[in-house]
Amino acid sequence: MDIYLATGNAHKAEEFGRMFAQASLPVRVRSAKDLGGMPHVDEYTGTFTGNCRLKAEALQRIAPPKSWILADDSGLCCDALQGGPGVDSAVYAGPKATDAENRVKLLEAMKKAPAHKRGARFECHLLVLGPNGVDMKFVGQCWGRILEAEVGTEGFGYDSLFVPSGFDKTFGELQPQTKDKLSHRAKAFAQLATWMRG
Ligand code: IMP
Repeated sequence: MDIYLATGNAHKAEEFGRMFAQASLPVRVRSAKDLGGMPHVDEYTGTFTGNCRLKAEALQRIAPPKSWILADDSGLCCDALQGGPGVDSAVYAGPKATDAENRVKLLEAMKKAPAHKRGARFECHLLVLGPNGVDMKFVGQCWGRILEAEVGTEGFGYDSLFVPSGFDKTFGELQPQTKDKLSHRAKAFAQLATWMRG
């Protein structure tokens, strides 16, 4: 079965590619590029769930009938920032911000936060749309803390600032295979895989 990823984020697509391969599911992961590219989505809902649905439905509209669609909306929620940047993680430093600019802004915003207020969680919402009204949602969280400076070059987004609980290395230092086992996306994906196996 083919499943189209409703994302224009190459890093997310790479992670899903690895996780589907590792899970040995009979699925061929297809890119939104195969449908002419991920349509622009104005992520206005203010929630991960709502934005996830906007992305899934936007790709579904241009996909062949009866296609399977998988959308991901995710972000970093910091205690010291009352859950921010949250749904705005991708555009924290501005509508066209790069990951590096977002990290700089986060470090600045967290500059005065003492060690005990540097807690944070990554959150990932997945939505699967499929034939015959299939509409399934899965959520994963990964708790940890935000460092005072970047460490590591693996991953993307805020990975080099985030140390998952129980570890002393950032997602930017850990091997991708390790992140694939414990991340917010991995946890949501594990539920998806269990559901797909029926
Ligand atoms: P979205 O594409 O609107 O869901 O925004 C996701 C944003 O959240 C990304 O651009 C990153 O800034 C951040 N993010 C989500 N997942 C991760 C991750 O696994 N590592 C690092 N940053 C992430």
